[in-house]
Amino acid sequence: MPLAALPKCAPAQVANRNTCMESLLDRFCRYARIDTQANESARTYPSSPGQRELGRLLAAELQALGLRDAAQDEHGIVLATVPASPQSHGSPIAWIAHLDTSPETSGHGVKPIVHRDYAGGDIVLPGDPSKVIRVDANPELAQMHGKTLVTTDGTTLLGADDKAGVAVIMEAAAHLAAHPEIPHGPVRICFTCDEEIGRGVDHLDLGKLGAHVGYTLDGGGAGEIDTETFSADLAVVTITGVNLHPAIARGRMVNAVRLAGAFVDRLPWMTLAPETTADRDGFLHPYRIEGGVAEATLRILLRDFDTPKLAERARLLEDIARVLQAEHPAARIAVAVTPQYRNMAQGLAQEPRSVRFAEEAMRRAGLEPKRTIVRGGTDGSRLTELGLPTPNLSCGEHNLHTPLEWTCLEEMATAVRVLVELAQIWGAAS
Ligand SMILES: [Zn+2]
Repeated sequence: MPLAALPKCAPAQVANRNTCMESLLDRFCRYARIDTQANESARTYPSSPGQRELGRLLAAELQALGLRDAAQDEHGIVLATVPASPQSHGSPIAWIAHLDTSPETSGHGVKPIVHRDYAGGDIVLPGDPSKVIRVDANPELAQMHGKTLVTTDGTTLLGADDKAGVAVIMEAAAHLAAHPEIPHGPVRICFTCDEEIGRGVDHLDLGKLGAHVGYTLDGGGAGEIDTETFSADLAVVTITGVNLHPAIARGRMVNAVRLAGAFVDRLPWMTLAPETTADRDGFLHPYRIEGGVAEATLRILLRDFDTPKLAERARLLEDIARVLQAEHPAARIAVAVTPQYRNMAQGLAQEPRSVRFAEEAMRRAGLEPKRTIVRGGTDGSRLTELGLPTPNLSCGEHNLHTPLEWTCLEEMATAVRVLVELAQIWGAAS
C-alpha cells in the first residue's frame, strides 16, 4: 500500500493499550525508504550519507516528541533522553538500534509493500517475481495468518534489520511521552551507525550514554532474548614467497599462492567449519584469500561461545604455519590474531537483572520469553565487553540481509509494549 494511503494515527485506531499500529507502520515504512546501506570500503564515518539523513530525521522527530536533549552528534549517532516520571528513581536504561543496513543486498530505492490480513501461502514479490517468500522456507509464516506483513518488491533488502528496531524504539518513546501517567525510569535512546560492518560502537561514548544496562532491538521474531554471542578473533596469515620468472624458477621459486592453498587445505573442514557445524560449535572460517606468487594473505575468522577455545584455534593455525614453514624453508609464514568481540554471557552475569527484567517485560506483554544464542556478534557483544550489559531483544526481523526480508507489524507492536514495560520495571527497581 502506498504510504499516502495509510490513515493517520488517531485514538480510535489504537490497536492495543501500548501502541498505535498505524503510526508504527508509518514510521517503519518511512525509515525503510531512506537508503542507509553501509559501505565497507568507505573511509568515512558513517560509511554512507543516508545514515546521517535518517539520524537527522529521527533527532528532529524525538525533539518534536518533547525530548529536548535529542541530537545527532558529529559522528552521526543520535542520543536522546526520555526523562523518568516524577515518582520513579530507577537506574537509566538504554534502548539501542542501528541506522545502517547490510552491504550484502542493495538498500537503494526500497519500496515497502504492506500485506494486510495475510491469508497464508507463498508471497511473490512483484518487482522480481523470481523472488518468492516460501512457506516451506519460512515456517514462522504459519503463525502469521491475519497479521500485517511488510516485504520489499524483491529488488532490494527491506532493512527491517534494523529499522524495525528503530521504529519500535521511536514508537515506545512516543508512547511514554504521550502518557505521563505511566511511572517509568529514565530511558536513553541511542541510534548507532555502521553496525553491519563492525563499526557500530566505534564512536559511542559510554560515559555520554550514561546507562546502567542497554537493550539492542535487533532480533528475529518475538519473545527472544539473545543472551550469548560468539567470542570472535580474526587471524591474518601472511605468506611471503620467492618470485622470479617461471623460466628460471626451478629449485628457486616459492609460490605463495600454492602455500596459501596448502594452508587452507590443512584447516579442519568436517569439524570446525561453518558449513559443517551448528548450535554451540565454534569454527575456523577462511573467508578471503588475496595475493600472488610473492605474497599471499589469508583472512580467517575464529569463532566460539567458549572464549578460551579461541586460543586453541589460534594455536592450531600456528601449528599449520610451523609445519608448512618447515616444509618450505625459503618461505615466511606469519599468523597475526586480533580480538574482535566477546561472548556477552559473562558480562550479563554481572547484572542478572538485565535479562531477568527483559523476561518479565515480555511476560507482561503476553509472550513466553526464550533465551537464545547468536552464532555471530551484536553491538551488544562489544557494549557488554565495555561494561554496559546489553542483551538483544526480538523486534520482528526475518530473512535478514536478503531481498526476501520481511517483518510483521504485530511483532513490532509487541516489542514496543515490551520496551514500555521494561521502562516501568526498571523505574520500580531500587
Ligand atoms: Zn542488525
